[in-house]
Amino acid sequence: MLLNVSSLKNKPGGTIPFQVDLDLHELAFGGCCPVTEPVRAVGEVRNTADVFILSGTVSTTLHGVCDRCACEVAKPVEYPLHAILAEAFTGVDGEEDPWMFLLVDGCADLDDIVTTTFVLSMDSKFLCSDDCKGLCCRCGKNLNDGPCDCQPDVDPRLAVLKQLLKK
Ligand SMILES: [Zn+2]
Ligand SMILES: [Zn+2]
Repeated sequence: MLLNVSSLKNKPGGTIPFQVDLDLHELAFGGCCPVTEPVRAVGEVRNTADVFILSGTVSTTLHGVCDRCACEVAKPVEYPLHAILAEAFTGVDGEEDPWMFLLVDGCADLDDIVTTTFVLSMDSKFLCSDDCKGLCCRCGKNLNDGPCDCQPDVDPRLAVLKQLLKK
């Protein structure tokens, strides 16, 4: 969607709200496509001292298989949206601002801004929760459901000692 912000020109403090739903189901992450639901971006563009600042949030619910415990998860995510809209890439000290997006004929390309923000915000690993304990490498039990009966590896020297002490 193109958002025309030219009416904000010469109107410091002026705002234009927006809401857009994107279909990003073809985005692949680590071999799966977890973006099966629409990605919604909500926010506004504000004229701050004649600089057009776009801010808001982008959110959806991801569906996939946890990289650690392999269980199916539906994970709601929300990322901040922040971009500077400019007629030309100027940047500070001649450096290009990665969060600066070009206005074409006074319009911001919301699809481009939202997709870029969304992709760069996503975690490289897909986990059911940040502290997922994963599966036991021996018995395969899901350790999120509690510890398994596997004994931790014993130092071979301690094993010998144990045998000696038994006698
Ligand atoms: Zn997990
Ligand atoms: Zn185990």
